[in-house]
Amino acid sequence: MITKRSFVATAIFIALLAVSSCQNTEQKPAPPPPAAEAYNAPAVEVLPPYPQTPDEAIARLKEGNARFVNDKSAHPNRDDTRKIIQAQQQTPFASIMSCSDSRVPSEIVFDQGLGDLFIVRTAGQAPAVASYGSLEFSVAVLGVKVIVVMGHEKCGAVKGAIGTEKLPGHIEDLVNIIRPGVKEYVGKPDKLEEAARANVLAEVETLKKLNPILSQYVQEGKIKIIPAYYRLETGQVEFL
Ligand SMILES: [Zn+2]
Repeated sequence: MITKRSFVATAIFIALLAVSSCQNTEQKPAPPPPAAEAYNAPAVEVLPPYPQTPDEAIARLKEGNARFVNDKSAHPNRDDTRKIIQAQQQTPFASIMSCSDSRVPSEIVFDQGLGDLFIVRTAGQAPAVASYGSLEFSVAVLGVKVIVVMGHEKCGAVKGAIGTEKLPGHIEDLVNIIRPGVKEYVGKPDKLEEAARANVLAEVETLKKLNPILSQYVQEGKIKIIPAYYRLETGQVEFL
């Protein structure tokens, strides 16, 4: 009778023989990946419905953040099939204008994957012409349904903006962009939290009025532009 231990030993021996045999023969090149068209049918079946409205897009983001907060991230849309599909055309459903802070990566905190989110990141999510053009592209060309402006706790850029010291190099230029939105907190370092939230709200208002594209899409109800605030320790995104 074959014992469990001897069976395992035999299996390992056979596996070693197989490895040895592979090493002695010329390795065959990996087969090329199947054409993207071959993946289309099953991919459409397994992927969740693409958000068709701003509210559906916001719901998708909230569901993803809830998974992240509860340590239940699904890490969707990151496999080889997704790479091949998205190589043909990106299909983001949301744009996130957020801070460059390394603790606030949108794909992770919203538990999304390749081709899901269009990201504009600068410190303090300070907007500039390049940010505006990027967001307009995501709306008018890519068809995103929502723009989330996301600030966060302990933001260094906001801290600099409410400080009274002149900062070196282009850092001063950057904080000068966001200073108008937080001017009532300048010289009040204990008000960093309030200033960070005020910064987000000011940035949202600027984007809503931004002509000619974003303002029109907002008025027509085709997109929503909403404020959010990220908690570093819990991973929670609060929609303001
Ligand atoms: Zn920041």
